[in-house]
Amino acid sequence: MSIYQKILVAIDLTEEAPQVLNKAVEVSKALGAQLILAHVVEPVGYAYGGDIPMDLTELQDQLDKAAKDQLSQYGDQYGVSKENQVVTVGRPESEIHRLSKEQDVDLVIVGSHGRKGFQLLLGSTANGVLHGTVCDVLAVRIH
Ligand code: AMP
Repeated sequence: MSIYQKILVAIDLTEEAPQVLNKAVEVSKALGAQLILAHVVEPVGYAYGGDIPMDLTELQDQLDKAAKDQLSQYGDQYGVSKENQVVTVGRPESEIHRLSKEQDVDLVIVGSHGRKGFQLLLGSTANGVLHGTVCDVLAVRIH
């Protein structure tokens, strides 16, 4: 039995996502592990401080749909089936913590920009994921 059987890779749908996905697919194939592809859509209200007097439901639905379509394209391209694709709404770090428990994964893979100095103080998603996930975390260096 391999050391990791169920792996969750979290991607942000930027042009950097394939760098993280490529590594995750290689690792999961090499170990014969199940791979779950996850993306977290941030609530539109966050961008406006949550107090804009406007119904943002439609915009949120459009963002959710766009994210699902993009994830589905990656799924087709990288051979990850529909049932192993997850899109949720919330703060990326907390959602990745929650999903890793809910899905009972034994490894979480995220991208990392290798920030230094002041940027490091501001934090990153990879940092947030590391400090709160109970299973192992692999940070793929993004170039
Ligand atoms: P960042 O620190 O925001 O530059 O993101 C680094 C890594 O965190 C990305 O390569 C992804 O692995 C993960 N990540 C960031 N945002 C999200 C998101 N919205 N959904 C899923 N994963 C994310």
